[in-house]
Order: sequence, then structure tokens, then C-alpha cells
Amino acid sequence: MSEPVIRVALAGNPNSGKTSLFNVLTGSRRNVGNYPGVTVEKKGGRFTHNGKDYEIADLPGTYSLTSYSPEERIARREILGGGFDVAVVVVDSTNLRRNLYLLTQVMLAEANIILCLNMSDEAQKSGQMLDLKQMEALLGLPIVETVGNRGIGVDVLKDTIENALANPAKGERLVLGERLDLVVDQLAEMIVDDGEGARPPRWLAVKLLENDSLSKQWIRKRLPEISEDLIITAQNRAFEIEEETALDISTYIADRHYGYVNGLLKEVVLQEAREDSRRLSDQIDAIVCNRFFGPFFFMLSMYMLFYLTFSVGDYPMGWIEAGFEWLGGLVSGFWPEGSDSPLRSLIVDGIIGGVGGVIVFLPNIALLFLGLAFLEDSGYMARAAFLVDRVMHKFGLHGKSFIPMMTGFGCTIPGIMATRTLENERDRLTTMMVLPLMSCGARLPIWMLLIPAFFPEHWRAPMLFFIYIFGIVLAAILAKVLRITVLRGEETPFVMELPPYRMPTFKAMMSKMGERSWLYIRKAGTIILAISIVLWAISSYPKLDQSPIDAKIASGKIQVIDQQLPENLSEQERDAALEQIIGKAKESAAKGVEVLTVNEVEQRKLTEDLDYSVAGRIGSFLEPVLSPMGFDVRISTALLGAFAAKEVFVAQMGIVFSLGEVDEESETLRDKLAKAYNPAVALSLMIFLLVATPCMATVAVTKRESGSWKWAMLQLCGLTVLAWIISTIVYQVGVLFL
Ligand code: GDP
Ligand code: MG
Repeated sequence: MSEPVIRVALAGNPNSGKTSLFNVLTGSRRNVGNYPGVTVEKKGGRFTHNGKDYEIADLPGTYSLTSYSPEERIARREILGGGFDVAVVVVDSTNLRRNLYLLTQVMLAEANIILCLNMSDEAQKSGQMLDLKQMEALLGLPIVETVGNRGIGVDVLKDTIENALANPAKGERLVLGERLDLVVDQLAEMIVDDGEGARPPRWLAVKLLENDSLSKQWIRKRLPEISEDLIITAQNRAFEIEEETALDISTYIADRHYGYVNGLLKEVVLQEAREDSRRLSDQIDAIVCNRFFGPFFFMLSMYMLFYLTFSVGDYPMGWIEAGFEWLGGLVSGFWPEGSDSPLRSLIVDGIIGGVGGVIVFLPNIALLFLGLAFLEDSGYMARAAFLVDRVMHKFGLHGKSFIPMMTGFGCTIPGIMATRTLENERDRLTTMMVLPLMSCGARLPIWMLLIPAFFPEHWRAPMLFFIYIFGIVLAAILAKVLRITVLRGEETPFVMELPPYRMPTFKAMMSKMGERSWLYIRKAGTIILAISIVLWAISSYPKLDQSPIDAKIASGKIQVIDQQLPENLSEQERDAALEQIIGKAKESAAKGVEVLTVNEVEQRKLTEDLDYSVAGRIGSFLEPVLSPMGFDVRISTALLGAFAAKEVFVAQMGIVFSLGEVDEESETLRDKLAKAYNPAVALSLMIFLLVATPCMATVAVTKRESGSWKWAMLQLCGLTVLAWIISTIVYQVGVLFL
């Protein structure tokens, strides 16, 4: 028989390093970030230590265990629910006063506690010294010092967890001051309940004093005979205290908790942190968060990031591109020249052209993720949130929306899940509705393909910046519109805590980049591959038996001229030959015969083939809707594919532009696109891809998280119609300038 698993909870303030510890303990790679609120849901993992199995939960970060926010409710439910054998309270050692407040609450809840002093490296650097022995004795709890992001102290933590099972420690009685203790004890004595899942009496007593509704519910259900008596007594006592102290009872109770923490720290802090330990962070902030210089710095860092993505990323991109080209040539070589074997076409045009076209952008994507990881882990993102927050409020977006939005730059789906941190339903829906406008990672290959194809080098980084900003600005405007129409209501204020700057560890950044890159490759190898094959098939079949243009040539309605002149002609001979060709062409044209070059015939054939295929028929069906934006058949099928996953757009462009290509000559997809379309199409296309149709998965998640199809459909249709309007205007105005 296997022993039951031992269950461990990690609780702590936001940004105290819980997820870092969780990752080291379980060997997983969960997203950590140097800003509060990264972990929203309770997440579980496992590890084995000395032959025993442990199950560990990374609870969302909270400052207390009241029930104001979803995070707090989750943490509170988990800790009180008795579902854990051990609760590890993770604190940021550089900020003990605030962090230990949560500990006092967990102590009241009488969990089996281990205190984990994380960020001990920073605390040490700041000069802080603690008397740990004394602290253990006063708290009555085992204490472990750790450095979460480097995995230091984690083995000791494991041993301590193992030990805590044999010797549970609920901690010394929490001293709340004479006045409050008296009342709490009096109430606690009235509560007698030893049943399964009982709440600690002192916890309940404090909560009843605070008039906490969850606790009142619980008491009424559990101890109906005495519940009203208890509740009334508690309210009376609370009122007395409020009268005496002229303080709100919740404030008074919080004060008492802080009083305990202060008393404790007085006993155990041997050496305070040096005054200047946060100075560096503050000095950096003085510049970076400056009212005038701040936005400039923000723009600059974004610009640098995008510049890096293009300039550095384009080298390895070229190599991969060359690699696929070589591979395509190699595979083609198995068939005789000019063969129209479907298998050859499937592999070369469908798979190498489609999936290869997506994989090519891996270096750019990896670089962007690396840069974002640096900004996140260093703490700059939290500052950016602070800057953006000032603006966001004006537009009716909650400051707390920032983290879901940030997440949305990676992928909209976790972004939408992250809106769970927003307590207010209207805030949450507003954020969810506009989230797809954050340009996600799947759209990045589209920008990587289109921008260099249509814009000169020095315009590339600014164009990418423009696309991101365009999405953000549009999101802000839409949010405002929603907030004054369907989602009208009060705003909830929110104060975001700024973490100190930290030098990101190489390992953490690499692992973040690696993970996101791997996801990209995996997606290319699965869903994109599957869709590419389907798109290849519908773009290739049915095939024309005889091409209409060949028939016209045969019947003399079209004359083909070969503009290829023999080599080694002198300048004069060349001119003479050309004159002859042009002369013949004029003659034919005068007789009403169409004159085409070999190249033009080739192009016509491709168009005919595509028009005849399923994809072409779908395209011409959509033509009336899409042509005002400047889109042709090729683009319209790619747009359909993009609904399944945005990267498919790139894959499908790769496919249609490689189909029927006779010689796999070294013209890149970017070159082909640049020839086929003008910049007005490109711009209108980019805007359409940014704004219209969030992908299928987004629609499904919006439905699930908002609880109704109504919102999902509003998002899908609303954004698509809006995109159509903007793109049409952009294209129609754009062509005027060409
Ligand atoms: P959570 O919000 O509690 O889950 O915190 P995270 O695990 O996401 O960590 C927040 C930030 O602190 C990240 O940038 C980590 O790399 C960093 N961090 C975590 N533990 C330590 C530590 O012990 N020392 C230092 N210097 N940084 C840490
Ligand atoms: Mg976390």
C-alpha cells in the first residue's frame, strides 16, 4: 500500500518568491515575474523527498486572509479548509513588517506552519541581521532561510517539511493586546465545535468581530443554536471597542496584528537594514518613473527591444530560411524536373512552404521573449504598469488590468484567465473584451513577414512599435466606450506595489525564453502543420484539366513572346532584337490579339489554378467583403486559416506563393509579397490581422470566463466589424497616395 501523499501549501505576499520556490521544489518552470499578481490560480505540483511523495500548491499571493479579492478568497479557503498537512508561509525578508502580517493571520487560522524567510540574499546584502533562534522561540515555528531564484536552502526546506509532519507547529498564541485578547477569548470560549473541518475558535472570534460575512454564514450553518447569540455579542464588543478607541474595528484589529509583528521584530532584529539599501532602486525610479522622462524612457526601451528583434534576429532567420530552401531543393530533386507529383507539392509547397515559413521566425520570437523576460524580471514592467496606469484610468481601464494585458502580449488566453484577479465584474469584462487587441506572440511572425517586405529598414522597428501601440490605443478607446455604455459603473481604486529592481538571473531568463520558444515550435509542428496540409489541399484541388490560357494560346487569341534574348549579344544587337519583338507585339495587338510574356503567362496560370481550387472559390465568394480592404483570393484564404491560429496566415502565404513555382529559385517570401502587393494593402492587412477575429481558442475561453456566448460573440463580431471599417479606410485612403 502506498502512503498517502503529503500536502503542502505555499502562502505569502505577492512577489515574495513563492513561485520561484515552487519551481525549485517541483522542478517545473512556472511563470515567475518581478511584479505582483503573476500567479492567479492555485497551481499544484509534486515532488519526492526521502521516499515520500509530496503534493504542493502555489497559492496566489495575498497580503491578508480577508475575503476582498478572489486571490484572498482562494488562499483563505485553502488554508482554512484543512486540505493541507503543512503551510509554508513565504516572506520577503527585506520587508518583514508587511510580510509577517500575513503570518499572523495564518497563525490565527492554526495551520501547521513553517516560516520561510526568502530573499535572504537581499536581506543580507542590505545589512539586516536576525536572531533566528530567538525568532523561532518567540513564534514557536520552524524557520528556514532561502534564496528562491537560486534554489538555496530548498533542501533544508524539504527536511523541515518532513519534520513538521512528525512535530506539527501551530505557533505560539498570537498576542493581540490585553483589550482585544480579552474579547477574543470570551467569544472563543462560546464556540465549541470539535467536528470535522471545525474552524479555530480564535480565528472565528476575530472574524465575527470584523463582521465577516463568510464566517457568519459558517457559524449559522455549523452552530445554529448559538449563532445569533455569538454574532450579537461580537457586534456589541466590537462597538464598545470602536467607541473606546475611536477606530474602526477592522483597523483596530489590523493594528493589533501589526503591534504583534513590531514587538516581535524589536526582539529579533539585531541589525536593521541600512538606510541606503533601497536607495539604488529609488534613484533609478526617480529617472525611469519621472513624469516627463518616464514615458520617453518607456518608448525608448520598447523601441530598442523591437530593433533588437529585427536587426539581430534577421541573421539566424536568414540561415533557417536558407536551410529550408536547401531542403526544398533536395526533396524536389527526388522527382524529375517539372514534375507535378502531388506528393512533391505536398512536401515542398505545403509542409516546407507552410510550416517552414512559420519556423523561420523562431529567432525573432525568441529574442523578443528574451527581452520581455528581462524587462519583467528586472522589475521594469511594474514601472511600466505604473506609467500606463495613469493613462489607463482615464480610459476606464482598471490599473489591475495591466497584468492580464501584459500577459496578452504573449498569448491572449492566459491573459483572459488572468482577469480573474479583477474583483469587479465590469472591470473584468471590459478587460476581457479588449484583450485580443494586445498583439500576441502568434501575430509576431506576421509582423516579421510583412514589415520588412514593405517598409525600408529604418522604418521597421517604428512600424512594429506602431502596431503594438495601435492595439493599445484602440483597446483604451474601446474600453472607454464599453465603460460608458454597456458596462457602466463605479471604478475600483487600485494601488500597485513597486518591487525593487533585481538583476534577472541568466537561468530564469533562458528558461522563460526556452519555454516560450518551445511552445512556438510545438504549435508549428502540430496545429499549424495540420492546418497547412488542409490549406495546401484546398489551394491545390480541384485541378484544371486544361488551363484556359493554354487553349487561348492554341487558338491564337493570345500571343506569347519570349523576352529572353540569347546571351553574348552586343548592345546594338540587343536593341535591334528588342525592336523586332516589340514590332511583332504591336502588330498582333493591332489585330486584337493579346500579347503576353512568358512570365505573365506563368502568373496567369497560377492565378487560374488558384481560382479554380476550393480555396479560390471561397476567396471569390468573400471577394465583395474583402476587396474594399484591398485583399485578394490568396489573402482571403490565409485570413480564414488565421482564425484557427494566427500563425497560419504566414503558413498559408508561404503555401500559395510556393505552389506551382517552377524553379525553386532563391526568392524569399518577403520578396514575392513585395512584388505582389502595395504598401497600402500591407498596412490595411496588418491592421485587420491585429484587430479582427480573435482566434478560435480566444473565443472559447472568453465564453468560458465570461459565462456566456453573448460576450464571446460581441468580442468576435464587434472586433471584426471594427477591423473591417478601419482597414477599408486605411486602404482606400492609402491608394490615393500611391
Ligand atoms: P511570487 O509572486 O511570490 O510567486 O514571486 P516570484 O516567484 O514570481 O518571484 C518574484 C521575483 O523575485 C522574481 O523576479 C524572482 O526571480 C525574484 N526572487 C525570488 N526569490 C528570490 C530570492 O530569494 N532572492 C532574490 N534576490 N530574488 C528572488
Ligand atoms: Mg507567483
